[in-house]
Amino acid sequence: MLTAFDLLPTILAAAETTTSPAQHPVRELFIEVAYLAASVLFILGLRGLTRPDKARRGMQLAAIGMLVAVLGTLIDFRIVDYTWIALGLVVGAGIGAAISIWMPMTAIPQRTAISHAFGALAATLVGISHYDYITRVLGEQVSGVDMAALGFEVMFGSLTITGSLMAFGKLQELLPSAPITYKFQNASNIGLFVLAVLMFLFLVFTSSDSASHAVVFYLMVLVGLAVGVLIVIPIGGADMPVVISLLNSYAGLASSATGFVLGNNVLIIAGALDGASGFILSILMSKAMNRSFTNVLFGAFGTPAAATGAASTAGLSVRPISVEDAAAQLAYAREVIIVPGYGMAVAQAQHQVRELAELIEKRGGEVKFAIHPVAGRMPGHMNVLLAEANVPYDKLLEMEEINDQFSRADVALVIGANDVVNPAARNDPSSPIYGMPILNADQAQSVIVLKRSMNPGFAGIENALFYDPKCSLLFGDAKASLSKLVAEVKTA
Ligand code: NDP
Repeated sequence: MLTAFDLLPTILAAAETTTSPAQHPVRELFIEVAYLAASVLFILGLRGLTRPDKARRGMQLAAIGMLVAVLGTLIDFRIVDYTWIALGLVVGAGIGAAISIWMPMTAIPQRTAISHAFGALAATLVGISHYDYITRVLGEQVSGVDMAALGFEVMFGSLTITGSLMAFGKLQELLPSAPITYKFQNASNIGLFVLAVLMFLFLVFTSSDSASHAVVFYLMVLVGLAVGVLIVIPIGGADMPVVISLLNSYAGLASSATGFVLGNNVLIIAGALDGASGFILSILMSKAMNRSFTNVLFGAFGTPAAATGAASTAGLSVRPISVEDAAAQLAYAREVIIVPGYGMAVAQAQHQVRELAELIEKRGGEVKFAIHPVAGRMPGHMNVLLAEANVPYDKLLEMEEINDQFSRADVALVIGANDVVNPAARNDPSSPIYGMPILNADQAQSVIVLKRSMNPGFAGIENALFYDPKCSLLFGDAKASLSKLVAEVKTA
């Protein structure tokens, strides 16, 4: 039975002056224009993502860019049969739709990790099949330049597959989130990576006719897969965001190399954009945690270190507060700074937060939101949620802008945030988060924290802020607590 996909090449062939497979000028023109349009849309999309109010539009542009790129690829004259492609499209679109409908926002980091694993798998498989096609099926030589691109694609692709799977496992808590360390770990990892690089050089500089060439090629894939596992297991869960964006960058570089191998411009451009933006994001996130890049990659950070914080709070007690008392403080405050954190995302309390902020403002108070760069579980997590709840963008202030204002605030309302307001990052050199810049919530006149229990945050450490005499805790799910606060402030 004929499908629309089967008809497409026929329609296009009719528009061309030649039926020779080597010359399809109309089709080639369509493809190149589609790729150019897709590349421009990707760049505009990335640009949109630099501002919360333009981020949604940016994502839409990038998605349209991807659609245009896929359509451009589908009219390539080298496609002889659309059956498998159609099957892939249906399955892929089904998985994508299911993820977007059912996967919770809080699982975005692990979803991103698994996407990178699949992207890298695709690049690696393309590289392997291309190598096999040229050397075994055609029986031809792979030139040094082609081999360099192929080797790069397969080496970075394979280590990104397993590295991303490890990151997924840690974030999904299928693997221990704490670093897995052993003696001479960094030395052996570096040794293995050097081995992969030596194999890469061997492949580039020896003839692909030699019997050992294919053996070394496939061995390099295996070494790449092993390197991916071994470089990620010593990194703690708290550093996974940096690792994920770095792996994102590797997946991008592998795709770019795929573009060189296949002579595909959109892959080259999109891969380079992905590689560069992922790398920049990794550096920005390391900075936000006040950690050097090498420290994240080789420091085995994130080892449970509860003892440090626990000792400093031994013998101290916290002050629970009632909804009525908390509401009274908020209703009569002149300046309130809200500090949202991961707990707000878990509770999906963003709409109630907006409602409470509006109520306080109606009563004459001023409300601002303090956004820590690594609050939540993904970059921009808080911005996305608050934007979804229509909190005006000018109310969202970044750490550098707001930190000096806490001392003037009557109340700092901490909603499901913990590590990002933990003074241990400032005061306790033995704390695993020491050096990470934090929001100065402890400098406000009064602090109200919404959380469910005395459980620690992501880094697994105690928070001395909760034991500060000016801090009180409103225990309960953030959404439920906020709904009660809203009702109470209305009648105050
Ligand atoms: P934390 O993970 O430090 O703390 C979250 C707090 O929310 C906990 O104290 C928890 O306490 C509380 N909580 C959880 N669920 C609820 C709920 N339903 N209602 C009320 N409270 C709730 O969050 P932060 O945002 O302060 O810090 C982020 C941490 O995550 C940092 O360590 C960061 O490095 C790390 N990270 C950041 C990523 C990013 O890209 N932003 C990605 C991955 C990790 P309780 O259980 O008692 O309620």
